[in-house]
Amino acid sequence: MSAPAASPGQAKVNLLGLSRRQMEDFFLEIGEKKFRAQQVLKWIHHAGVTDIGQMTNLGKALREKLQDIAEVRPPEIVSQHDSSDGTRKWAIRVDGGGLVESVLIPDGSRATLCVSSQVGCSLDCSFCSTGKQGFQRDLSAAEIIGQLWLAIDSYDAFQSGKGRIVTNVVMMGMGEPLLNFDNVVAAMDLMMEDLAYGISKRRVTLSTSGVVPALDQLADVSEASLAVSLHAPNDALRDQLVPINRKYPIAVLLESARNYIDAQSDNKRVVTVEYTLIAGVNDQPEHARELAELLRDFPCKINLIPFNTFPQSDYQRPSGNAVSRFWQVLVDAGYIVTVRTTRGDDIDAACGQLVGQVVDRTRRSERYRALDETQVIEVG
Ligand code: SAH
Ligand code: SF4
Repeated sequence: MSAPAASPGQAKVNLLGLSRRQMEDFFLEIGEKKFRAQQVLKWIHHAGVTDIGQMTNLGKALREKLQDIAEVRPPEIVSQHDSSDGTRKWAIRVDGGGLVESVLIPDGSRATLCVSSQVGCSLDCSFCSTGKQGFQRDLSAAEIIGQLWLAIDSYDAFQSGKGRIVTNVVMMGMGEPLLNFDNVVAAMDLMMEDLAYGISKRRVTLSTSGVVPALDQLADVSEASLAVSLHAPNDALRDQLVPINRKYPIAVLLESARNYIDAQSDNKRVVTVEYTLIAGVNDQPEHARELAELLRDFPCKINLIPFNTFPQSDYQRPSGNAVSRFWQVLVDAGYIVTVRTTRGDDIDAACGQLVGQVVDRTRRSERYRALDETQVIEVG
């Protein structure tokens, strides 16, 4: 994952997306000292500076050299909306067209940023409208970390020293992060890197629907926390909801997830099991009992996500009672279970809504997607 320097006529290297290692390689490749990487990382990710000319500790000659071959270019914000509940949402245009979104959800002393990894998604889960869009392209590392950079910048928090405006990051926006492996790993490295954002590895979470070979590889290169999108307690049902299950069934996925946390240096970690509850499909007490049985001895906590409807889908959100019943079965079986609640209703903060409005109001339904407009709360 080295980052080649731009040669004449080539696009400039966007320094925003380079991990510490890549930044060091970059400076070595252009014949400079490795410690320059630390200085530039701090300018970009601590001070929020994008103008290389303002990086005053680099020396004039180096700044000019860098300006010829490199740039610091965050993605472009198309729109930003604030909810009365404090949720802030951005639609972001990425290179070559296409929109993604990110959402910041404040919750007491925490603020969680939900970050996208791809434009669209190829995996076509039956309840997900990003899947219905199909896959358009991977985001670059700069476009992924750029969502965090933009969120902080939008509160003037680089300059004001207001402290940490984003305390947690979840890779739960659009796309399957493990199908954009290198760029997601580089961006998560920056999230956790002290010379950049310094967010604890327990507070940076990658969510996957189960790309097992990539998850196996992740253990070697990342210490981020892990969430697995399970959504069903058996293969027959999961095959219908999450098509990648036909390739990597539940047992294989859970083993890979277990290996992932076993490989981490701190051995007290658990996997977050995400379970989207869909009325009449996977929300019955027998599903909860089967899930409790399935996850026995698996180190996890469970996050229930009541399905967010979108016009293109025939699925329904379960009633509050159905959610409570499901929750109770799991709690009685000894699990830690949280339920997400919707946030940012007044700004259409459901992921996908805003993009839908910007792109084409009449096609909004296709873009509607609901995910991390939500917050994790304890029920009971
Ligand atoms: N591709 C990754 C990460 C993005 S999706 C994954 O699937 O894990 C993140 C979460 O959004 C998934 O757990 C999925 O359950 C949830 N999600 C997608 N569409 C949803 C909907 N319509 N209602 C509720 N949750 C949804
Ligand atoms: Fe892709 Fe995740 Fe949506 Fe499935 S739930 S289609 S993996 S974004």
